[in-house]
Amino acid sequence: MNAICINTSCGKPISFSASPHDVSITAKCPHCGLEAEYFNTAKLLAEYNDSERTLVELESDAGRAFEEWRQDKKSQFWARTTIRCVCANIEARLFFIRRIAEHMATASGVQFDEKEMEILKEQREIVDKNGDRKLVPKWLRFEDSVKQSLRLYIKAAGLDSAIDYGAAGYTALSATFECRNHLMHPKNSDDIQITEANLDAANQGYSWLRQTITSMARPF
Ligand SMILES: [Zn+2]
Repeated sequence: MNAICINTSCGKPISFSASPHDVSITAKCPHCGLEAEYFNTAKLLAEYNDSERTLVELESDAGRAFEEWRQDKKSQFWARTTIRCVCANIEARLFFIRRIAEHMATASGVQFDEKEMEILKEQREIVDKNGDRKLVPKWLRFEDSVKQSLRLYIKAAGLDSAIDYGAAGYTALSATFECRNHLMHPKNSDDIQITEANLDAANQGYSWLRQTITSMARPF
């Protein structure tokens, strides 16, 4: 990996080996001896491009399923498939926004506290009954996951964006996840019946999230 020494009185090009998995690498300049943290921009860009590709594929799935349903509005198969696809999309967007927040915070020097890091990584450390430390999943309620993911992104990027959680789009987004929870954990036949109103809400909620994220500054 190539970089320019961050010591302004040195500023010489340096090169060092970086694992393709590392987002940042601590390296020592051979000219002035300053040890500093450098970003593996290739890794960041690869990850960013991969997340874009993932979202494009997921959006294509949702669009195709919705189109199939539009041609055959009696089909619960296509109605349910649309909801599942849209929700995968929503979860992927929230995951990527948390990953980007983590990277940006490292770059901008913003500090997240322990609770915030748990939210970003969706895991927390516990001490089990044998006194051993281990990582366990930490899941937030859907509404909290949306609000916290966006809040931490705004914090990492140093933005002053205010998000309107009173918007109809946010209400539609919450309703879509309730619909998804019934669908994925059904307790009776009503739970798996998807209505046209559910699909409208899914489209409205997803559009709200997409627009909310894209209206904020892009990291790269
Ligand atoms: Zn140097």
